[in-house]
Amino acid sequence: MNLQLLTKSNLHTHTDFADGKNTAEEVVLAAIDAGMDVLGFSEHSFHANPTVFGMQSPERQQEYKQEIYRLKNIYADRIKILCGIEQDSHSGIPTDVYDYVIGSVHYINLGGELCCVDLSAQTTLNAIKMHCGGDPIAYAKAYFEAVARVESDTQCDIVGHFDLLTKFNERTAIFDTSDPRYIKAGLEALDALLEKEVIFEVNTGAMARGYRTTPYPAPIFLRRIAEKRGNVTLNADAHRKEYLTYGFDTALQILKASGIGSVLTMTKVGWKNIAI
Ligand SMILES: [Zn+2]
Ligand SMILES: [Zn+2]
Repeated sequence: MNLQLLTKSNLHTHTDFADGKNTAEEVVLAAIDAGMDVLGFSEHSFHANPTVFGMQSPERQQEYKQEIYRLKNIYADRIKILCGIEQDSHSGIPTDVYDYVIGSVHYINLGGELCCVDLSAQTTLNAIKMHCGGDPIAYAKAYFEAVARVESDTQCDIVGHFDLLTKFNERTAIFDTSDPRYIKAGLEALDALLEKEVIFEVNTGAMARGYRTTPYPAPIFLRRIAEKRGNVTLNADAHRKEYLTYGFDTALQILKASGIGSVLTMTKVGWKNIAI
Protein backbone atom coordinates (compact mmCIF):
# COMPACT_ATOMS: atom_id res chain seq x y z
CA MET A 1 0.00 0.00 0.00
CA ASN A 2 2.77 2.43 0.92
CA LEU A 3 4.69 1.47 -2.18
CA GLN A 4 1.59 2.16 -4.25
CA LEU A 5 1.34 5.66 -2.76
CA LEU A 6 5.04 6.35 -3.14
CA THR A 7 5.14 5.35 -6.80
CA LYS A 8 2.57 8.04 -7.62
CA SER A 9 5.26 10.71 -7.53
CA ASN A 10 8.81 11.44 -8.64
CA LEU A 11 10.57 14.81 -8.57
CA HIS A 12 13.94 13.91 -10.13
CA THR A 13 13.52 13.58 -13.90
CA HIS A 14 15.78 14.38 -16.85
CA THR A 15 14.93 14.89 -20.52
CA ASP A 16 16.68 15.56 -23.81
CA PHE A 17 17.07 19.19 -22.74
CA ALA A 18 20.24 17.77 -21.13
CA ASP A 19 21.39 14.16 -20.75
CA GLY A 20 18.02 12.36 -20.61
CA LYS A 21 16.82 10.09 -23.41
CA ASN A 22 13.24 11.31 -23.98
CA THR A 23 11.45 14.55 -24.70
CA ALA A 24 9.62 16.07 -21.75
CA GLU A 25 6.27 15.33 -23.40
CA GLU A 26 7.17 11.64 -23.88
CA VAL A 27 7.98 11.49 -20.17
CA VAL A 28 4.67 13.13 -19.23
CA LEU A 29 2.71 10.60 -21.33
CA ALA A 30 4.62 7.70 -19.73
CA ALA A 31 3.87 9.06 -16.25
CA ILE A 32 0.15 9.37 -17.09
CA ASP A 33 0.17 5.80 -18.47
CA ALA A 34 1.81 4.59 -15.26
CA GLY A 35 -0.98 6.21 -13.21
CA MET A 36 1.26 8.76 -11.52
CA ASP A 37 -0.23 11.84 -9.82
CA VAL A 38 2.86 14.07 -9.74
CA LEU A 39 5.80 14.43 -12.11
CA GLY A 40 8.58 16.88 -11.32
CA PHE A 41 11.19 17.78 -13.91
CA SER A 42 14.65 18.60 -12.58
CA GLU A 43 16.89 19.23 -15.54
CA HIS A 44 20.61 19.81 -14.95
CA SER A 45 21.31 23.53 -14.60
CA PHE A 46 23.62 25.32 -17.00
CA HIS A 47 27.02 26.29 -15.73
CA ALA A 48 29.79 28.18 -17.41
CA ASN A 49 32.47 25.60 -16.75
CA PRO A 50 32.68 22.75 -19.24
CA THR A 51 30.05 20.19 -18.34
CA VAL A 52 28.92 16.95 -19.84
CA PHE A 53 25.56 16.95 -18.09
CA GLY A 54 24.07 20.42 -17.98
CA MET A 55 21.86 22.38 -20.33
CA GLN A 56 24.22 23.94 -22.82
CA SER A 57 23.27 27.63 -22.48
CA PRO A 58 21.14 29.96 -20.33
CA GLU A 59 18.82 30.27 -23.37
CA ARG A 60 18.38 26.50 -23.44
CA GLN A 61 17.51 26.60 -19.75
CA GLN A 62 14.87 29.23 -20.54
CA GLU A 63 13.42 27.02 -23.29
CA TYR A 64 13.28 24.14 -20.82
CA LYS A 65 11.22 26.19 -18.41
CA GLN A 66 8.86 27.33 -21.16
CA GLU A 67 8.32 23.76 -22.37
CA ILE A 68 7.59 22.41 -18.89
CA TYR A 69 5.09 25.24 -18.30
CA ARG A 70 3.44 24.46 -21.66
CA LEU A 71 3.06 20.80 -20.61
CA LYS A 72 1.85 21.84 -17.14
CA ASN A 73 -1.09 23.64 -18.77
CA ILE A 74 -1.91 21.07 -21.44
CA TYR A 75 -1.97 18.10 -19.06
CA ALA A 76 -3.24 19.88 -15.93
CA ASP A 77 -6.38 17.75 -15.72
CA ARG A 78 -4.42 14.48 -15.94
CA ILE A 79 -1.27 14.95 -13.87
CA LYS A 80 0.37 17.58 -11.68
CA ILE A 81 3.59 18.69 -13.37
CA LEU A 82 6.24 20.65 -11.49
CA CYS A 83 9.11 22.59 -12.97
CA GLY A 84 12.19 22.06 -10.83
CA ILE A 85 15.90 22.25 -11.47
CA GLU A 86 18.84 20.09 -10.44
CA GLN A 87 21.16 22.91 -9.49
CA ASP A 88 24.82 22.03 -9.67
CA SER A 89 26.76 23.51 -6.76
CA HIS A 90 29.00 25.37 -9.25
CA SER A 91 26.17 26.68 -11.41
CA GLY A 92 25.27 30.07 -9.94
CA ILE A 93 22.20 30.56 -12.18
CA PRO A 94 19.22 31.96 -10.20
CA THR A 95 16.86 29.26 -8.95
CA ASP A 96 13.96 31.31 -7.60
CA VAL A 97 11.88 30.78 -10.75
CA TYR A 98 11.50 27.05 -10.14
CA ASP A 99 8.91 25.09 -8.16
CA TYR A 100 11.71 23.39 -6.22
CA VAL A 101 15.46 22.91 -6.32
CA ILE A 102 17.52 19.74 -6.00
CA GLY A 103 21.04 20.75 -4.96
CA SER A 104 23.78 18.46 -6.26
CA VAL A 105 27.55 18.23 -6.18
CA HIS A 106 28.79 16.76 -9.47
CA TYR A 107 32.17 18.52 -9.49
CA ILE A 108 34.72 19.19 -6.79
CA ASN A 109 37.47 21.76 -6.92
CA LEU A 110 40.80 19.98 -6.49
CA GLY A 111 43.87 22.17 -6.85
CA GLY A 112 41.93 24.68 -8.94
CA GLU A 113 40.56 22.06 -11.31
CA LEU A 114 36.87 21.11 -11.36
CA CYS A 115 36.86 17.31 -11.26
CA CYS A 116 33.69 15.42 -12.18
CA VAL A 117 32.55 13.05 -9.45
CA ASP A 118 30.29 10.77 -11.50
CA LEU A 119 31.76 10.58 -14.99
CA SER A 120 33.68 7.28 -14.76
CA ALA A 121 35.71 5.22 -12.30
CA GLN A 122 38.83 6.10 -14.26
CA THR A 123 38.15 9.85 -14.00
CA THR A 124 37.81 9.51 -10.24
CA LEU A 125 40.96 7.37 -9.96
CA ASN A 126 42.91 9.90 -12.05
CA ALA A 127 41.77 12.78 -9.84
CA ILE A 128 42.78 10.87 -6.70
CA LYS A 129 46.22 10.24 -8.17
CA MET A 130 46.72 13.76 -9.55
CA HIS A 131 45.27 15.87 -6.76
CA CYS A 132 45.00 13.75 -3.60
CA GLY A 133 48.39 12.04 -3.41
CA GLY A 134 46.70 8.73 -4.24
CA ASP A 135 44.56 8.83 -1.09
CA PRO A 136 40.86 8.14 -1.85
CA ILE A 137 39.89 9.38 1.62
CA ALA A 138 41.38 12.81 0.87
CA TYR A 139 39.14 12.90 -2.22
CA ALA A 140 36.14 11.79 -0.15
CA LYS A 141 36.82 14.57 2.37
CA ALA A 142 36.89 17.18 -0.39
CA TYR A 143 33.65 15.79 -1.82
CA PHE A 144 31.81 15.77 1.50
CA GLU A 145 33.04 19.29 2.34
CA ALA A 146 31.40 20.43 -0.90
CA VAL A 147 28.22 18.52 -0.03
CA ALA A 148 28.11 20.17 3.39
CA ARG A 149 27.87 23.53 1.58
CA VAL A 150 25.31 22.45 -1.03
CA GLU A 151 22.33 24.12 0.65
CA SER A 152 24.07 27.50 0.87
CA ASP A 153 25.49 27.11 -2.66
CA THR A 154 22.18 26.20 -4.32
CA GLN A 155 19.35 27.24 -1.94
CA CYS A 156 18.03 23.73 -2.45
CA ASP A 157 14.91 22.15 -0.99
CA ILE A 158 16.23 18.64 -1.64
CA VAL A 159 19.80 17.37 -1.32
CA GLY A 160 20.64 15.28 -4.41
CA HIS A 161 22.38 11.88 -4.23
CA PHE A 162 24.21 12.51 -0.94
CA ASP A 163 27.10 10.05 -1.51
CA LEU A 164 27.32 10.17 -5.31
CA LEU A 165 31.07 9.56 -5.11
CA THR A 166 30.32 5.84 -4.54
CA LYS A 167 28.62 5.49 -7.94
CA PHE A 168 31.28 3.14 -9.34
CA ASN A 169 32.27 1.45 -6.07
CA GLU A 170 30.43 -1.84 -6.64
CA ARG A 171 32.44 -2.65 -9.78
CA THR A 172 35.63 -0.73 -9.00
CA ALA A 173 36.35 -0.53 -5.27
CA ILE A 174 37.70 3.03 -5.05
CA PHE A 175 36.53 4.08 -1.58
CA ASP A 176 36.67 1.96 1.58
CA THR A 177 33.32 3.11 2.94
CA SER A 178 33.97 1.29 6.22
CA ASP A 179 37.09 3.40 6.89
CA PRO A 180 36.35 5.51 9.99
CA ARG A 181 37.80 8.57 8.22
CA TYR A 182 35.37 8.11 5.34
CA ILE A 183 32.43 7.69 7.72
CA LYS A 184 33.49 10.74 9.75
CA ALA A 185 33.69 12.94 6.63
CA GLY A 186 30.24 11.79 5.49
CA LEU A 187 28.60 12.19 8.88
CA GLU A 188 30.04 15.70 9.32
CA ALA A 189 28.47 16.77 6.02
CA LEU A 190 25.21 15.08 6.94
CA ASP A 191 25.08 16.71 10.37
CA ALA A 192 25.70 20.14 8.82
CA LEU A 193 22.79 19.61 6.43
CA LEU A 194 20.52 18.17 9.11
CA GLU A 195 20.73 21.59 10.80
CA LYS A 196 18.95 23.07 7.76
CA GLU A 197 15.42 22.57 6.53
CA VAL A 198 16.38 20.22 3.70
CA ILE A 199 14.94 16.96 2.47
CA PHE A 200 17.34 14.15 1.60
CA GLU A 201 16.45 12.24 -1.53
CA VAL A 202 16.80 8.50 -1.61
CA ASN A 203 17.99 8.24 -5.20
CA THR A 204 17.63 5.06 -7.28
CA GLY A 205 19.07 6.47 -10.53
CA ALA A 206 22.31 4.49 -10.51
CA MET A 207 20.29 1.29 -9.92
CA ALA A 208 18.27 1.87 -13.10
CA ARG A 209 21.46 2.40 -15.03
CA GLY A 210 23.13 -0.74 -13.71
CA TYR A 211 25.87 0.88 -11.63
CA ARG A 212 24.49 0.02 -8.24
CA THR A 213 22.13 -2.41 -6.53
CA THR A 214 21.16 0.01 -3.75
CA PRO A 215 20.15 3.68 -3.68
CA TYR A 216 22.05 6.69 -2.32
CA PRO A 217 22.58 7.43 0.56
CA ALA A 218 24.21 4.34 2.11
CA PRO A 219 22.44 2.81 5.16
CA ILE A 220 24.97 4.29 7.60
CA PHE A 221 23.83 7.76 6.55
CA LEU A 222 20.15 6.78 6.48
CA ARG A 223 20.45 5.58 10.07
CA ARG A 224 21.83 8.99 11.10
CA ILE A 225 18.94 10.71 9.30
CA ALA A 226 16.53 8.42 11.17
CA GLU A 227 18.21 9.17 14.53
CA LYS A 228 18.02 12.91 13.96
CA ARG A 229 14.51 12.79 12.53
CA GLY A 230 15.54 14.21 9.19
CA ASN A 231 13.27 14.13 6.15
CA VAL A 232 13.64 11.83 3.17
CA THR A 233 11.85 11.54 -0.17
CA LEU A 234 12.10 8.89 -2.89
CA ASN A 235 13.48 10.00 -6.25
CA ALA A 236 14.30 8.04 -9.40
CA ASP A 237 16.79 10.44 -11.04
CA ALA A 238 15.20 9.08 -14.22
CA HIS A 239 17.02 9.57 -17.52
CA ARG A 240 14.48 7.45 -19.43
CA LYS A 241 10.69 7.41 -19.34
CA GLU A 242 10.69 3.72 -18.32
CA TYR A 243 12.48 4.48 -15.05
CA LEU A 244 10.21 7.03 -13.36
CA THR A 245 9.87 4.97 -10.17
CA TYR A 246 12.60 2.38 -10.74
CA GLY A 247 13.80 0.59 -7.62
CA PHE A 248 11.35 2.27 -5.21
CA ASP A 249 10.47 -1.18 -3.79
CA THR A 250 14.11 -1.94 -2.93
CA ALA A 251 14.61 1.57 -1.56
CA LEU A 252 11.57 1.23 0.68
CA GLN A 253 12.92 -2.00 2.22
CA ILE A 254 16.29 -0.35 2.87
CA LEU A 255 14.62 2.69 4.44
CA LYS A 256 12.62 0.50 6.80
CA ALA A 257 15.70 -1.52 7.75
CA SER A 258 17.54 1.74 8.46
CA GLY A 259 14.94 2.88 10.99
CA ILE A 260 13.27 5.52 8.82
CA GLY A 261 9.63 5.72 9.86
CA SER A 262 8.14 7.93 7.16
CA VAL A 263 8.78 9.32 3.70
CA LEU A 264 7.79 12.73 2.39
CA THR A 265 6.07 12.49 -0.96
CA MET A 266 4.73 15.23 -3.21
CA THR A 267 1.01 14.85 -3.82
CA LYS A 268 -1.47 16.88 -5.86
CA VAL A 269 -2.05 19.02 -2.76
CA GLY A 270 1.55 19.36 -1.62
CA TRP A 271 4.05 17.47 0.55
CA LYS A 272 2.59 14.59 2.56
CA ASN A 273 4.36 12.45 5.14
CA ILE A 274 3.67 8.77 4.51
CA ALA A 275 4.34 6.30 7.32
CA ILE A 276 6.22 3.25 6.04
ZN1 LIG B 1 22.85 14.59 -10.27
ZN1 LIG C 1 19.82 14.00 -11.78
